[in-house]
Amino acid sequence: MKVMKFGGTSVGSVKSILSLKEIVEAEAGRGPVVVVVSALNGITDKLIATSELAKNGDSHYREEFEAMVTRHHQMIDAIIQDDKKRIDLFNNVDQLFDQLRSIYYGVFLIHDLSEKTQDTIISYGERLSSHIVAAMIKNGMRMNSRDFIRTENKEGKHVLDTELTNKLVKEAFATFQSNNTNASKTVAVVPGFIARDRDSHETTNLGRGGSDYTAAIIAAALDAEILEIWTDVDGFMTADPKVIKTAYTINELSYVEAMELCNFGAKVIYPPTIYPVCVKNIPIKVKNTFNPEHPGTLIKATIDNDQKPIKGISSIKGTSLITVTGLSMVGVIGVNRRIFTTLANKGISVFMVSQASSENSTSIGVRDEDAEAAAEVLNAEFAKEIETGAMFPMQVESGLATIAIVGENMKQTPGIAGKLFGTLGRSGISVIACAQGASETNISFVVDGKFLRKSLNVLHDSFFLSEYKVLNIFICGIGTVGGMLLEQIRTQQQFLMQSRRLKLNVVGISDVDNFVLDRDGIDLDNYEKILRAGFKADTDHMREEIIKMNIFNSVFVDCTASKQIATLYQTFLEHNISVVAANKIAASSDYDSYVKLRQTARDRGVWFRYETNVGAGLPIIGTINDLCNSGDKILKIEAILSGTLNFIFNEIAADVPFSETVRRAKEQRYSEPDPRIDLSGTDVIRKLVILTREAGYKVEQDDVEKHLFVPDSYFEGSIDDFWKRLPELDADFEARRKVLEAGNKRWRFVATMEADEQNPSSFKTSVALKEVPYGHPFYGLEGSNNIVLLTTERYKEYPMLIQGYGAGAAVTAAGVFANIMSIANI
Ligand code: ADP
Ligand code: ASP
Ligand code: MG
Repeated sequence: MKVMKFGGTSVGSVKSILSLKEIVEAEAGRGPVVVVVSALNGITDKLIATSELAKNGDSHYREEFEAMVTRHHQMIDAIIQDDKKRIDLFNNVDQLFDQLRSIYYGVFLIHDLSEKTQDTIISYGERLSSHIVAAMIKNGMRMNSRDFIRTENKEGKHVLDTELTNKLVKEAFATFQSNNTNASKTVAVVPGFIARDRDSHETTNLGRGGSDYTAAIIAAALDAEILEIWTDVDGFMTADPKVIKTAYTINELSYVEAMELCNFGAKVIYPPTIYPVCVKNIPIKVKNTFNPEHPGTLIKATIDNDQKPIKGISSIKGTSLITVTGLSMVGVIGVNRRIFTTLANKGISVFMVSQASSENSTSIGVRDEDAEAAAEVLNAEFAKEIETGAMFPMQVESGLATIAIVGENMKQTPGIAGKLFGTLGRSGISVIACAQGASETNISFVVDGKFLRKSLNVLHDSFFLSEYKVLNIFICGIGTVGGMLLEQIRTQQQFLMQSRRLKLNVVGISDVDNFVLDRDGIDLDNYEKILRAGFKADTDHMREEIIKMNIFNSVFVDCTASKQIATLYQTFLEHNISVVAANKIAASSDYDSYVKLRQTARDRGVWFRYETNVGAGLPIIGTINDLCNSGDKILKIEAILSGTLNFIFNEIAADVPFSETVRRAKEQRYSEPDPRIDLSGTDVIRKLVILTREAGYKVEQDDVEKHLFVPDSYFEGSIDDFWKRLPELDADFEARRKVLEAGNKRWRFVATMEADEQNPSSFKTSVALKEVPYGHPFYGLEGSNNIVLLTTERYKEYPMLIQGYGAGAAVTAAGVFANIMSIANI
């Protein structure tokens, strides 16, 4: 015999309830079936909310009530075609609604809602749904669970009277079972959740989500071959799929693992459900009503060939931590016994305990709603000790969350706890308390509630529970480089997901007008439209929102040239968000800020990368880092670092005056938006400063000697003035160019860093327009290319030479992309 439980969503819509019908009728052809149903989804909540309205004398309760009536009526109309059956069912259902209407009216009149009345009200959800399902299913026979599920009152809580219930279930189903062996193919339809008090006979229930429990109780009492939990997901998953997008279905779980995951909040099965069937060794199958072909999850005693140390992660929101402390608790026998007895007597369940080895502090995890009562009874229990000062009053910390990672194989795998806490630390999440049971099937810990989602995500990712790794990316600036980067990400997304198991999730995009954030990822085919509908651009607002998102494995990519955006890096790094900058301002700003950024990244276990600050996609910074890390010493850097200036001095000719070359550089997007940044040497100085710093020298922009070729006055005033005045320089340039050409030389704007041979810690930096003779490596440098000559202790006689495109959207974006990939670390 099978017991099949269908949850709220499975009976919640016409589509799902018809799917239920098909599933159950197919099963009924094979043998006897008990179907346990929940209320239509959302109805229990609605019943409660409506009773609150009635209690408060709010006459809107009537509309809410009538909406529930309409929902049930519409469902019946849609699913029952047979006229007689439908009329009978309407009669049954309306009778229930008439009773319920009267109860609500009573509550409304007297403004009183006792627990007894509330329990009665919420029982109607399952009573209604079970009538509907019984009428819909071929050979369906409704059975009343209040006849056989009995509870008793313990400390004001309804708990199952197991013995009596077992006996009553067996009796109630005796004829059903024997009928079925006579092949009558009857399907017993039972309302889940509801019960009756064994003494007062009042209507009670098994607690929210309790229909699963009803099904397990019946399965155990009747020795069912299997208990099937039909719900709205493909099975028991590695984590709650509503929080973790990459969660996936676990094929098999042991009872112990399932119990631990459920105890720590995996809502897919109500925690008390597992015990009764586990004792009887009845397997549980979790299946999806909306996707019945999916094999689902099988829960049983032991799993063969189980390799994975961690099976799943679950969490409980609304945790409070009560800390019992005192100086004289050390070695005192019986403190723990008193704590737990006191709480148990009050009916408060404790789901986590963590004790310092010095024994003078014990932290207890309880639900937020129990915290106040728990503190009160504990303060009363230890009143004497508190009065004498031996112990302190209970400390209560609320708004926390408990997370558990679960797996029976954890005990055979060393290093799990280390990895767990390391991963959390790198993500900036501090652990408030933790506990690991001696059985070692779970490690549970408490974090601030605001870190819950992030913790779940980083752990899911780092324990390779996910099928792929996720890197969350914010892209700031979608001009030439940023726009190209987005395009490159868009075209590579599929490939990286399939062959590298990396999901590049663009969670934020901004430009000068707007910004948009979406933790589920922005559709890159459509981002411009999405961006226009986003927030108005505001750096402070954007910073706040990004930090508030508190998203795991994330990187902020700056493709702007903005000073304001560069000021955000420090805060982002402090919040464990890596930074990739195409923007050179931060790395070339004052030395102390540069050092602080790098240090913060190191301290936080995140990255600050800016390879494209010099030479676009060329591996210059990385190479200098590698040389220095391996013990080499950079003695001299000579470089052409401005693609724009090189372009200009390659373009200049008898028929192409200087001013025209500048215009072309701007038009062809080699130059900065404002070409004066190139002509003033500022851009080259920034790059030289960065390279010099990477080589291990402390330098500021002002330290760099400048030998420029455009008079200073051109850099004052407006950009329009500048363009107007520029042709004034053409004649002089042409005269000098002729001489240069005759000498077979070329102009190159060279950046130089040279250490003093005698005293290698002192050095000089300069930028200058130089005349380079034929034969020099810089002479033939084409177009906008860059070149860097590195003279080091190891590369002395023949310096290392790096050369190639030093500007351009595609190569720069690719360099930024490479930095992003290095952070993904796959
Ligand atoms: P039902 O109404 O069928 O009883 P529930 O809403 O009680 O359904 O339980 C199913 C929900 O449990 C899923 O939609 C999912 O969001 C949530 N859930 C939480 N943790 C898990 C998990 N580890 N695996 C699957 N579902 C989970
Ligand atoms: N309808 C009840 C609830 O919403 C019981 C259940 O669905 O399992 O809690
Ligand atoms: Mg449920």
